[in-house]
Amino acid sequence: QFITTDMATLEKEVKKYAISKKIELENLKVREEYRREFMGNVSHELKTPLFTVQGYIDTLMDGVKDKSLRDKYLERAQKGVERLVYIVQDLDMISKLEMGDVKLQYTDFNVVTLVQNVFDMLEMQADKKNIILMFDSKYSKPIRVRADQEKVQQVLINLVMNSIKYGKENGTTEVAIEDFINNKVIIRVTDNGEGIDASNLSRIFERFYRVDKSGSRNEGGSGLGLSIVKHIIEHHNEKIYVESKPGKGSVFSFTLEKAK
Ligand code: ADP
Repeated sequence: QFITTDMATLEKEVKKYAISKKIELENLKVREEYRREFMGNVSHELKTPLFTVQGYIDTLMDGVKDKSLRDKYLERAQKGVERLVYIVQDLDMISKLEMGDVKLQYTDFNVVTLVQNVFDMLEMQADKKNIILMFDSKYSKPIRVRADQEKVQQVLINLVMNSIKYGKENGTTEVAIEDFINNKVIIRVTDNGEGIDASNLSRIFERFYRVDKSGSRNEGGSGLGLSIVKHIIEHHNEKIYVESKPGKGSVFSFTLEKAK
């Protein structure tokens, strides 16, 4: 490794080598710590729905005479499995994003249509809480952007879904698109739901982070939605912002590049 002739240079090279090895080791330690924490979170997240499903199946195996009760237990077991599927999908996505394994497929597309599609997908969930999904009629003209359409759809689904989950009954979710600096547009998702206080606001993009651990769990989240959103936006070299007032509501905004 050390091709040198005089002692002083050799000493310097050895020192440099030792420092680089130390940094390498520290990086490894950080990654190991990260891996351990991630695995801990994963098993914790999976345990609750798994035990729920197991519980209902055990009860059903013991025999439940009443048909409506049987149906109810089956339905709950199915919900648990559904939740497991969502968590595993989210985990898969986050690990790919964090490992840099995701290659973006850039195309030019109309983001107005995309918002409308996402509204169609989530209409049923919104209806359950009587939440109105609003999109200003001024967007009759297409707004073309350059991005990975599937990933941007994922971002919109996660943000609109959150606005429904944490929105109040009879509330509203509004999506707006505006011109932004540097040939960009900014897309805002605004709700008038429970809002987020300042101490939590700085942490909601962390993976597995939830404001109200028990409350959010009832909403069926994995705590991964917003970290997926942030990764996707940052992969595009774009920005995401959040503003929120407890009791009043939240605004999540992100930028996208306009198509040329
Ligand atoms: P989850 O699966 O728990 O919804 P997210 O990563 O999507 O995970 O969100 C993290 C946390 O941020 C949520 O648990 C919730 O407490 C809070 N949050 C996200 N979106 C909103 C919103 N629109 N209004 C209020 N709180 C929100």
